Amino acid sequence: MLYHSTRGKSPQVSASEAIVSGIAGDGGLFIPEKIPSFAAGEIESLLGKDYREIAVAVSSKFLEDYTKEELLQYFTAGYGPDRFDTPEVAPTNILSDNLAVLELWHGPTCAFKDLPLQILPHLMLAGQSRMGDHSKIVIMVSTSGDTGSAALHGFSNVSGTEIICFYPHGKVSQIQERQMVTQGAPNTHVAAIEGNFDDAQSCVKRIFADNEINAKVHGAGCRLSAANSINWGRLVPQMVYFVDSYLKLVQAGKLKMGQTFNVVIPSGNFGHILAATYVKRMGLPIKRLICASNINHVLSDFIQTGLYDRRREFKTTISPSMDILISSNLERLLYDACGERPEVVSQWMADLRQKGYYQVDPATHSVIAKNIWGGFSTEEETRESIKKTFLKYHYLIDPHTAVGFSALKKYREQTGDNDLAVIASTASAYKFCPSVLDSITDLSKITYNSDLELIPVLEELSGTQAPRGLATLAAKKVVHQRVLNLPEMPEYLLEVLNLS
Ligand SMILES: *Cc1c(COP(=O)(O)O)cnc(C)c1O
Repeated sequence: MLYHSTRGKSPQVSASEAIVSGIAGDGGLFIPEKIPSFAAGEIESLLGKDYREIAVAVSSKFLEDYTKEELLQYFTAGYGPDRFDTPEVAPTNILSDNLAVLELWHGPTCAFKDLPLQILPHLMLAGQSRMGDHSKIVIMVSTSGDTGSAALHGFSNVSGTEIICFYPHGKVSQIQERQMVTQGAPNTHVAAIEGNFDDAQSCVKRIFADNEINAKVHGAGCRLSAANSINWGRLVPQMVYFVDSYLKLVQAGKLKMGQTFNVVIPSGNFGHILAATYVKRMGLPIKRLICASNINHVLSDFIQTGLYDRRREFKTTISPSMDILISSNLERLLYDACGERPEVVSQWMADLRQKGYYQVDPATHSVIAKNIWGGFSTEEETRESIKKTFLKYHYLIDPHTAVGFSALKKYREQTGDNDLAVIASTASAYKFCPSVLDSITDLSKITYNSDLELIPVLEELSGTQAPRGLATLAAKKVVHQRVLNLPEMPEYLLEVLNLS
């Protein structure tokens, strides 16, 4: 299966080339020439199978130039007991008759991005050697919080790679920051940026497109690559757990084989929910996808109206990994929804760049709205969801997951559709102790110097245990302390590669 660009001006490439390059030469995103389907009875045949086997069954459909043995090896290594705290990888926790939570935070950095980012390094390195390319891979990521630590963990000590991570100064949680700045492997580099996530992301994109920088980097035997969620190699592992969760619900007797269910996804860059749209198209019986936004609700507005308008104030929230006004992966959905017309997609993307908005035609909008429902959660509603879920089910959720709970509540109120819904729980509550504690108790009565001190407080109050990756964080040494202005980012890259 070959991959082409959503903007139509780049040659077709293999899966491994798409993964190694990250972004197409014309600025578009790689997309498979056709979305494969599950054969009749295929989903059923996966009942009772191990997570890794399901992962191979799903991913091999998209990654034909990797053998199934190779894929099994990657998923076995990436999701091993040294990295994930449960062999289930992504447990589905059934809270009630029509509500389940898909826990995606059992990996080393306690957020869902571990699931793709423990696999991506394997796909990249194998893909590169297949292409006969022996240059060093230089990963550049901009992060709104969770990608950074997950990517740093996934690539740390992977030989033949350097990883550089930029995060917005003061706009990620103390615990997220701590996870990044304590990554001690010699191939990891981290800098805080004076700006917000979108600023950092735009600057990384400009570096990727800069011929002069690329020439220098190539001259030194290196190649730049992206680990952000626009990389095709990240989307594929994200498809797996929806299938796994469905099978678990069937096994638990909550669904009959073939019966539909709803899936709720707290969204920012639109990567996560995009993966779910693909498994739906492949034949997983998802009825509706619920795209949950926080108060930076550019995405849920778009799904409701067909107008994508980023001309609004950027707001910092208690769900920082969703504080995004430019959702890059939406471009892939647009491409499919508009009937695969690259010139139309290119125009919308140009409008977004030049005018700050684009309006899709009614036909495209109706395709999107049929499959996806959009809703948002205010900060108050997010806190309320954390509190209610704790009181009702004695179950702790983080603010991102709570945005999903609020959106589902609104979806049910507006549509009357109370079918079984699975909410993707995208991070551990322990990653966001202050806002979680603030929601379930009176935080002003607790004195603390650093958010890390709140981890044992939350353990005590909830009677649950913090994931080991977070419990050991306080003892780790800070090794990265750089703060950069945006224009200094290219120079920092050259400095890391000893080219300045
Ligand atoms: C990244 C992230 C999201 C948003 O996922 P997208 O793929 O960017 O839409 C939601 N919650 C958490 C905790 C995240 O880290």
